[in-house]
Amino acid sequence: MKSPTRIPGRRLLHSPGPTPLPDEVLHALMRQPMDMGDPRNDETIAACEAGLKQVLQTQSADVFFYACNGHGAWEAAIENLVPPGGSVLIPGTGHFSESWAVQTEALGRRVVRTPWIEGLPIDPAVVTETLRADKQHEIVAVFVVHTDTSSGITSDVSALRAALDDADHPALFVVDVVASLGAEPFDFDGQRVDMAVGASQKGLMCPPGVGFLACNAAAFAAAERNPAPRFYWDIVRRKSELSYRKFCGTPPQNLMGALAVSLGLIQSEGLHNVLARHQLLASLVHAAVEGWSEGGALGFFARDPASRSNAVTTVTVPAGTDVDGLRALAREQYQLAFAGALGPLQGRGFRIGHLGDQNPAQVLGALATVEAALEAQGIPLGSGVTGGGTRRALLKLAGR
Ligand SMILES: *Cc1c(COP(=O)(O)O)cnc(C)c1O
Repeated sequence: MKSPTRIPGRRLLHSPGPTPLPDEVLHALMRQPMDMGDPRNDETIAACEAGLKQVLQTQSADVFFYACNGHGAWEAAIENLVPPGGSVLIPGTGHFSESWAVQTEALGRRVVRTPWIEGLPIDPAVVTETLRADKQHEIVAVFVVHTDTSSGITSDVSALRAALDDADHPALFVVDVVASLGAEPFDFDGQRVDMAVGASQKGLMCPPGVGFLACNAAAFAAAERNPAPRFYWDIVRRKSELSYRKFCGTPPQNLMGALAVSLGLIQSEGLHNVLARHQLLASLVHAAVEGWSEGGALGFFARDPASRSNAVTTVTVPAGTDVDGLRALAREQYQLAFAGALGPLQGRGFRIGHLGDQNPAQVLGALATVEAALEAQGIPLGSGVTGGGTRRALLKLAGR
């Protein structure tokens, strides 16, 4: 049998998910499966529940894990909260809000959309207006994508909570934190979120394969009232002390073991420090993009600097740029993987992920390598007074 080509060194992974795994997490994946009666099953799940509640900043929410990706967790939110034919408001953030909306409609629910304004976060005033117009309270939930991973834009959760309050509308406030958890400040209890929806493979530094919901009493009560036929996703059925019930079958033991370890790493670094590290790394990437933009070809997709995500940066390119060629060169020749643009942005940009198990040296390496690939393609980059993008980033790190 021919062995796959070995990659010398490490290929840097700067996609906004999946993200690279800490060695401790890799090692946790190598444990032997356990008998279902082994008390370590329950201990592992309990550690994941406690660790996740800490990252979500909640005392009171219940968390439910699924053997699934983010789309599975989206489906769990829809099936539990929205009765057949019920309506959901999904404010436009780009590719991810639209994908969740399409999935919601495919499951027989109705979606009210607010328009997506390119380059900007969700406008809370439009959310208030749309809810006020819903006099019959047909909208049962507002589904918000915290960080839209395609645009690299983070919307303001507190302002959106206030938008629901201002409308005096009883809709549940549901937030997709798949790309933001562990990278952006998020406070489930403090921001009065009713349900959070997430997955393992982005800021949580685990392999893909575990999705989750966190829900407060109001969200759980909505699930209890909801007559929608469901089984695997049903949080009411899953609320149990038995790990077999909690997972509706065999837990994905190795992934849960890995998640317990990664949540422990976040706890020992300290959530506050984890968030500060992401902010620093984002500031290095933003400095580089500012430098590159001086050449007149590249730019930020996010127009408002305050909404630029700490997890991923979307960079716009001139029409006709061979983005796939750029990525293939970086990946195959230079050993740096970064992402293309998605959905409505396809072909109009690329994305640099800077979340999860990342540090300044890795991010500087990634920026320099992206710059080399851009140079190889002859894309004009600024060299101006500051000497170009990567140099700006390293001066920023040096505090100069
Ligand atoms: C990645 C992502 C998803 C989908 O997750 P999958 O695991 O790919 O199904 C959903 N929402 C956001 C914001 C994401 O970044």
